[in-house]
Amino acid sequence: MAEKNECSYCGAVESDEIMLFRGENCFICDSCVEFIYNMIKNHKIVPTTMDVDRPSAIHNLKLTPREIYDKLSEYVVGQDYAKKVLAVAVYNHYKRIQNNANKNKDVEIDKSNVLLIGSTGSGKTLFARTLAQILNVPFAIADATTLTQAGYVGEDVENVLLRLIQAADYDVELAQNGIIYIDEIDKLGRKSDNPSITRDVSGEGVQQALLKILEGTVANVPPGGGRKHPHQEFIPIDTTNILFICGGSFEGITDVVNARIGQKSIGFNDSFATKLDDSEVYRKITHEDIKKFGIIPELVGRLPVIAPLHTLSVKNLMEILREPRNAIIKQYQSMFNMDDVELIFTEEAVMAIAEKAEIQKTGARGLRSIIENVMLEIMFDLPSEKDIERCIITKDVVLNGSQPDKIRKKNLA
Ligand code: ADP
Repeated sequence: MAEKNECSYCGAVESDEIMLFRGENCFICDSCVEFIYNMIKNHKIVPTTMDVDRPSAIHNLKLTPREIYDKLSEYVVGQDYAKKVLAVAVYNHYKRIQNNANKNKDVEIDKSNVLLIGSTGSGKTLFARTLAQILNVPFAIADATTLTQAGYVGEDVENVLLRLIQAADYDVELAQNGIIYIDEIDKLGRKSDNPSITRDVSGEGVQQALLKILEGTVANVPPGGGRKHPHQEFIPIDTTNILFICGGSFEGITDVVNARIGQKSIGFNDSFATKLDDSEVYRKITHEDIKKFGIIPELVGRLPVIAPLHTLSVKNLMEILREPRNAIIKQYQSMFNMDDVELIFTEEAVMAIAEKAEIQKTGARGLRSIIENVMLEIMFDLPSEKDIERCIITKDVVLNGSQPDKIRKKNLA
């Protein structure tokens, strides 16, 4: 039987329903033509129409870097330097989109994706998510360690784009201005000076795949998220204007920086060396330091903006518990409010929770489970006690599981 021609893009086989157009050494089917036509049409419409009547990044370009910084501060505690770097980077990113859409532009501005470096629970994901929220653009998260290059079992890099499209309710135009956060990028390198650890080959494959979408390409995303197979229609998405924020803890990076800038004494005993404060060291991170973690130079080059996050202090953790818009303590207070109980945490209690979190070394991530543990018994009992007006969480409750101070209605003046 004669072999049937296939669409070179989606693999659809020529039939009564599927029409193929022949090119030089390739074919394209009618539905791919339609998709690509729509995509080109959309792509041309988006940047030139500045009065789009719906939330989009372009719409929010009115925000200055200072305004972006202020809005970030409503949710993110500390991390002042990273906030500034991000505010400027995001402002420039959307200005670039505007500029490149202008037909009479003199210069094409290059894309500046961002690399967030900071320990676990320091706020990397929070930054990316909050930015998307401020700008009102679709947002998707991926964990670099679960990504695989096409053809391997796992999640294709393209699938991340599908999640962004889904977050935009399948509005590709909107997704093309969205933000993607890729966590644990540092784990892709896994290069080690230890010869017994071989270089993670698929990690490099993923880096190459990521590089493509970070650079800006038209990717064909299978709507089901599954592996490509004939007859499945693809969603073409242009990644040129998607802002990629990559994050990683880059464990040991301070040693790399210290060694480079000569902060560490030679040999193993560094006790006499004058060391810079960690947050100062973080600001000195260069792209060369990143490459030491096995990130391929091309990918490093595509992440020109480095925003370092410092490790959160007890003071920061206390602020996180109380200050942000949706601070954990505020959340508990409003839950108690529904039962007409005023919930109060003493200063010492808040400090004790923050200190417990600091010991765990998981940044602000540990705060919720610590407080959850503290509050469990109280939340179990309190709704049955109808006459409680006020519930005071003291240090003793946090450290020893003692009963909170309960003020009953009749005791109040
Ligand atoms: P990372 O991505 O750096 O590991 P996350 O952003 O996921 O950390 O933070 C973990 C939790 O801690 C989230 O609930 C987040 O809201 C909170 N958190 C972390 N850092 C901060 C911060 N600087 N300000 C306010 N909340 C924070």
